Amino acid sequence: MTENHKQFETSAIHDGYDPSDLLGSLATPLFQTSTFTFETAEQGERRFAGEEAGYIYSRLGNPTVSVLEEKMAALEKGERALGFASGMAAVSAILVALTKANDHIICSAGLYGCTFGLVSMMKEKYNIEHDFSMMETKDELRQLIRPQTTCIYVETPINPTMKLIDLEMVSEVAREHNIPVVVDNTFASPYLQRPLELGCDVVIHSATKYIGGHGDVIAGVAVGTREFLDNVQMTTQKDIGGIMSPLDAWLLIRGLKTLPIRVDRHCDNAEKIYAELSSHPNVSRVLYPDDHDHPDYHIRQNQMKRGGGLISFEIKGTKKDAQQMLNNLEFVKIAVSLGDAETLIQHPATMTHAVVPEASRQKMGITDQLIRLSVGLEEWKDIWKDLEQALDRL
Ligand SMILES: *Cc1c(COP(=O)(O)O)cnc(C)c1O
Repeated sequence: MTENHKQFETSAIHDGYDPSDLLGSLATPLFQTSTFTFETAEQGERRFAGEEAGYIYSRLGNPTVSVLEEKMAALEKGERALGFASGMAAVSAILVALTKANDHIICSAGLYGCTFGLVSMMKEKYNIEHDFSMMETKDELRQLIRPQTTCIYVETPINPTMKLIDLEMVSEVAREHNIPVVVDNTFASPYLQRPLELGCDVVIHSATKYIGGHGDVIAGVAVGTREFLDNVQMTTQKDIGGIMSPLDAWLLIRGLKTLPIRVDRHCDNAEKIYAELSSHPNVSRVLYPDDHDHPDYHIRQNQMKRGGGLISFEIKGTKKDAQQMLNNLEFVKIAVSLGDAETLIQHPATMTHAVVPEASRQKMGITDQLIRLSVGLEEWKDIWKDLEQALDRL
């Protein structure tokens, strides 16, 4: 990759697209096409043989999707990015690319619900075993590494408990054994955390969340070296087929232009809401990475620019009370997903993590009283007023 000296904010707007390539169009054109015509049969032969650059068929590449991929590669400081139909399409394409039958994966103790489902299915179908680890020390991680270990898979901040994992530490141990580290960076976004700069190998996003930012797209992205992602493109992406649609890429390109200012505002609001929640009498515990007493606060300082827009909190009471708190809200919306302009709230034990067996949920710290909040872009005082009246009425 050519040296890119632009600042993040500028890259998010300008990288990956030059209007002079396309009739001066300021906005990236939407190439809503399934296929591309060849001028001659011989040209078609050359394109398929890889002797001539150019588009063939949108599952193999599309100009609008390519712009989004170049922007994401620049923002995550990777050589190449690939767009996918969903975050889970990206997760599954990467994990299937990195494993074969009887291999072994080490995962952070705390995974997105469907990723947990995927690794369980890989165990059942292909005997690909997995271990969960808190990844708090190098030794804890080293003890789990086997000759068959082909991937270390990390989420940080962990959903929904907001525990952090030291990515530099994990990548140092992985390097001793040449094991690739894959990081689901959805919660932080590349604006707050860049795992490749910390020595990790692959970054995955559910672009549905902060990258899109407006709750109107489901999409995923993976970023890493050109060699690895070229291989993914020609195998698990092309042949399993979970590609990103051109329209979704177009919406994500628009979303990315405001990613830095949106995420800063999400963080500003979350810091205020965190402080208010912490002193509410009906709240027993608040989990937020920017909490100075958070056991992982030093990790937050080292690897995240700010604390992010997600807060989890436990209320005093029962599962019924937690559900009542959600029902008491006026404009804060009850919904899974996160990173949207609207403040969203959900109950992990019965929603995002309902598929996780009760015992594993307990181990992960997902109690019936735990509520997850994705702080939106509204005026923070309005968000707090709504949360406060809902809590007061318990
Ligand atoms: C939403 C999410 C996913 C899955 O993404 P989809 O776009 O819904 O497929 C994966 N990881 C995390 C952390 C998520 O929040």
